[in-house]
Amino acid sequence: MSANIVVLGAGVSGLTTALLLARDGKHNVTIVAKHMPGDYDIEYASPWAGANYLPVAKPGSPSETYERNTWPELERIARDLPEAGVHFQDTVIYRRAKDAGTDVANWFAELIKEDAWFKDVVPNFRILPKSELPEGMDGATAFTSVCMNTAIYLPWLASQCLKHGAQIRRGVLSHISEAAHLHHSGKRADVVVNCTGLSSLKLGGVEDTALYPARGQIVLVRNDLNVMASVSGTDDGPDEATYLMHRAAGGGCVLGGCLQKDNWESQPDPNLAVRIMKRAIELCPELVPKGKGIEALSVIRHGVGLRPMRHEGIRVEKDRVSGKDGATGLLEFQIPPQVARYASFMFSFIGRGVFYLFIGCVMIGAKWYHIAPGVITAVIGIAYIALEFVPSIEPRRT
Ligand SMILES: Cc1cc2nc3c(=O)[nH]c(=O)nc-3n(C[C@H](O)[C@H](O)[C@H](O)COP(=O)(O)OP(=O)(O)OC[C@H]3O[C@@H](n4cnc5c(N)ncnc54)[C@H](O)[C@@H]3O)c2cc1C
Repeated sequence: MSANIVVLGAGVSGLTTALLLARDGKHNVTIVAKHMPGDYDIEYASPWAGANYLPVAKPGSPSETYERNTWPELERIARDLPEAGVHFQDTVIYRRAKDAGTDVANWFAELIKEDAWFKDVVPNFRILPKSELPEGMDGATAFTSVCMNTAIYLPWLASQCLKHGAQIRRGVLSHISEAAHLHHSGKRADVVVNCTGLSSLKLGGVEDTALYPARGQIVLVRNDLNVMASVSGTDDGPDEATYLMHRAAGGGCVLGGCLQKDNWESQPDPNLAVRIMKRAIELCPELVPKGKGIEALSVIRHGVGLRPMRHEGIRVEKDRVSGKDGATGLLEFQIPPQVARYASFMFSFIGRGVFYLFIGCVMIGAKWYHIAPGVITAVIGIAYIALEFVPSIEPRRT
C-alpha cells in the first residue's frame, strides 16, 4: 500500500524521515525545504551541529526510546558506510560539582551519572578513576560514541533519498497546508510530515509555542585531536559550555560552545569565541603546539546555530489541521519509524475503521440526532475493519 508523502524540511530530521519512508519502497516521497545540505543559515540548525551522539534524555521518557534506538543505526553507519562521513570516537564527559543546577549541567545530567541508563547501549562505558581526572574535575564518564561530519553526512542523506526514488525541491511555505499541494506527482499528498525544526514555532497551522531556541556558538578549526571531550560547565557563565569534537574525514575540530536559551542572535560574539578557544586549549592542551595559545588555532569558520528545543520534549504525533485555503490536511510530527507505521496504518482499512469507530463512539449522545449519526459512523468503522480481512479488496489511497 503506497502513499504520496511530502516531507517538509531537509535538516537531519527531514532527510532521515524521508530516507526511511523512501527506502521501504512503499511510498512516493517528495522533500520540500527552504534550506538544503550545502546551505549555512541561522534558520537551518543541522549544518552547525558537531555532530555527536550524546544521550541526554531522561530515563523513561519517549526521548530515551528514540536515543536508545538511534545508537545501533549510527553504529552501523560508522562501521559499514565510510562514505557517510561518520566515525567512532572515544568520548569523555567531565563533571564539576560546582556546575550543579546550571542549564548546561542540567542538560548534561544523564551523561555524567555513574549509573547512566545508556551504559549498556554504547560500547566501552566506564567511570574514570580519580587518577585519570584533570585538575578541577570531580568525575567523568567515558564511552565510545560517533561524530559525524555534517558537511558530508547531510549531502549523503540527500543522495540516499534520491537513490531510493525520493524527489527534492525548494519551497518556502507560510502555512503547513501548502505542503499538501507540492507532491512531485502533481496529486494532493496523502500525508505531510512536518520536520521544520524551530520554524514550527511560526509556521502557519502549526505555531508550536512550546518550542524555543537554545543558541550554540562554535569555532571550527583545522587543528585535530582524535577525541571528543565535554565539561558540565565553565567559570565564564552558567550558559557557557566547553566541548571538542573531532569530525570524520577531514571535517576539522568543532570547539564549543554555549546553550543560550531564548537567544535568537545569529552573529558570532567575538568575546565568546575567544573564551571558547581558550577553554578548549585548557581542556586539551595537545590541540596546539606546547606553550602556544589561541593564536596557534587555524580557524576554518565561526558559526552560530539555534538548537530547536521544546518544553514538552520532542513532538511526535499526528494531527489534522484546517488549511488557510479551507482544505484539511493530515499533519504528522514524527521520527522516522513511527512515520512509516502511521502512514501505513492510516491508509489501511483497519486504520480507517478504528478512526471511524472512535469518532462514532464520541458522537453518540442521549438524543436521537446524536445517536443516529454516531451509530452510522461507528458501523462504517466496523465495515472498514471487516474489509481488512477480505484479501481480494485493496484499500484506496486517499
Ligand atoms: C552549535 C550546535 C551544535 C549542535 N550539536 C549537536 C550534536 O553534537 N549532536 C546532536 O544530536 N545535535 C546537535 N545539535 C542540534 C541539532 O543540530 C538539531 O537538533 C538538528 O539539526 C535539528 O534538525 P531539524 O532537521 O529538526 O531542523 P533543521 O536542521 O533546522 O532543518 C529545518 C528544515 O526545515 C526547513 N524549513 C523550515 N521552515 C520552512 C518553511 N516555512 N518552508 C520550507 N522549509 C522550511 C529548513 O529550510 C530546513 O531544511 C547542535 C546544534 C547546534 C546549533
